[in-house]
Amino acid sequence: MENFIVSARKYRPSTFDSVVGQKAITNTLKNAIRNHHLAQAYLFTGPRGVGKTTSARIFAKTINCLNIDLEKNPDMIEPCNVCESCRSFSENASFNIMELDAASNNSVDDIRRLVDQVRIPPQVGKFKVYIIDEVHMLSQAAFNAFLKTLEEPPAYVKFILATTEKHKIIPTILSRCQVYDFKRISISDIASYLAYVAEKENVVTEEAALHLIAQKADGAMRDALSIFDQLVSFSSGHVSYQSVVENLHVLDHDYFFQITDQFYNKNITSVLLILNEIIENGFDGQHFIIGLGEHLRNLLISSDPQTISLMETSAAIRDRYLENARKFSSAFLLKALDLNTQSDIHYKTSNNKRLLIEIALMQMVAMANGTFESIEKEEIPAMPIKKKIVQEIAEQAPIEKIAAPSINQGVDARAEKQMEPKTELQDKVPEPVQVLPQPVRVQKIPKGLGLGISLKTGEDTADELGNPDAYMLGKENIADEYSQEDVDQVFDNFLENIKTQPSLYATLKSNMATVKDGFVIELQVYNEAQKMALNEVLFDLVKQLRIRLNNYKLKSEIRIIENSNTTKYMSPSDRYNAMESKNPNLKKLGNNLSLELDF
Ligand SMILES: [Zn+2]
Repeated sequence: MENFIVSARKYRPSTFDSVVGQKAITNTLKNAIRNHHLAQAYLFTGPRGVGKTTSARIFAKTINCLNIDLEKNPDMIEPCNVCESCRSFSENASFNIMELDAASNNSVDDIRRLVDQVRIPPQVGKFKVYIIDEVHMLSQAAFNAFLKTLEEPPAYVKFILATTEKHKIIPTILSRCQVYDFKRISISDIASYLAYVAEKENVVTEEAALHLIAQKADGAMRDALSIFDQLVSFSSGHVSYQSVVENLHVLDHDYFFQITDQFYNKNITSVLLILNEIIENGFDGQHFIIGLGEHLRNLLISSDPQTISLMETSAAIRDRYLENARKFSSAFLLKALDLNTQSDIHYKTSNNKRLLIEIALMQMVAMANGTFESIEKEEIPAMPIKKKIVQEIAEQAPIEKIAAPSINQGVDARAEKQMEPKTELQDKVPEPVQVLPQPVRVQKIPKGLGLGISLKTGEDTADELGNPDAYMLGKENIADEYSQEDVDQVFDNFLENIKTQPSLYATLKSNMATVKDGFVIELQVYNEAQKMALNEVLFDLVKQLRIRLNNYKLKSEIRIIENSNTTKYMSPSDRYNAMESKNPNLKKLGNNLSLELDF
């Protein structure tokens, strides 16, 4: 075999126009050259293999090219590649370019050597260009030694610093450089460049194969070209989609098409078997989740003609997506994507990773089946944060019966007004409470259901994972008949749990839950404080009612009623607090006289 030159080197671009996927940057650099607006120092940042060093070299070559005559031909801002300077660049023999890899030469001495060279002007050409790769690797001392030269270099010196980690560059360096952010190269740009290389090399390729390589390279042309080289030697000159799938150990699109086909057929068994096959082929679960996410996204964007262009695949696979997208509604795809994202998020911390994926898949099938069709948004109460405070307030008996000494009539009157019992029906449950955080809107999509799988019931697991209404899943439309007796039974049971809150317990005990029309259960309390306390436990009550009565449309309403019962238990501190809340001057009085309360 003749001398093999790796494609990444052989096909390294030698002009600005041949740099792939960085048009904005190469154009800006060309303009700078055209307008003689060269900075002393540049910082090229961006992921690996996207053309930073290549662009730096082309820049160095261009500003030294002897054939560029801006007066005569202002649009010719490319190296001629034939003059003496260009040729010495191409043969790596130019004295006008110094490349330092800071990853391996990061000491003060390395930098001092470089700084010493800076003093010698170029023999041929106009500029000496110093390219420092991986500049973030320089030691602190090396940075300091470099700073002065970077600040005031001779006019014939240009610095180009390159790094993959811009955030590690100290501000003093950053502020002295013109910064260029190199982007990841798009899959289609990489694929078409690979096609160009393949043609030059007389290699037969399939478009889908090149797209797959480009995908695997994750935006880095260098990686794409070295994968390409590898595959060319593996597959003896014919790079097919199948050979790429096998050699790169990538998850074939086909698996995902099979899975969504089974979503469509509502066949849980097949979906689980396909997943099993994938896992047995040695693919990691997260790998699968990412692949499925991409697949669902592709289906979603191919259902709208305007977003099809966002899909970075070969034409054949795009057509397959177009055809398959018709089978699913956008709403389904969105929900499936959401489920998939949830399993992605919880994957690392899950104890049973496989089950996590399986449950997500089963939920997707169930959604396709229409079981989750009525998924909508609904309010649920916020998590009790200030439970203790609210409980304390609630423990105070109704205050309107207390004859508080009125020091200031105005304040008293206002307080009285606030205490007026409200008789109109309150908003349907759950309702925002002043001291509590606002109810959060939570989607009823089974977010996180079963994520972090354990052997507990789905209900419990879901609750722990912050999806309190997961018990409703798929049951939103179930509404069995029930009687007042049925409700009383559940309610009695529930009351046992709130005996620790005597005031609320007593109130609810004496005003049992009443069945109203439209699946409404009315609950009665005497004041706002009790209502707040009731709101704290309301979620559990409604949940118990819904489950025990098998009616998931059931709602609750709280009504504040007048209290006819005068024999309420009041502790001395309760009584004082009640008086103080009625008349804040009481506290002032106590403070002014430095009185200590002794209950
Ligand atoms: Zn030239």
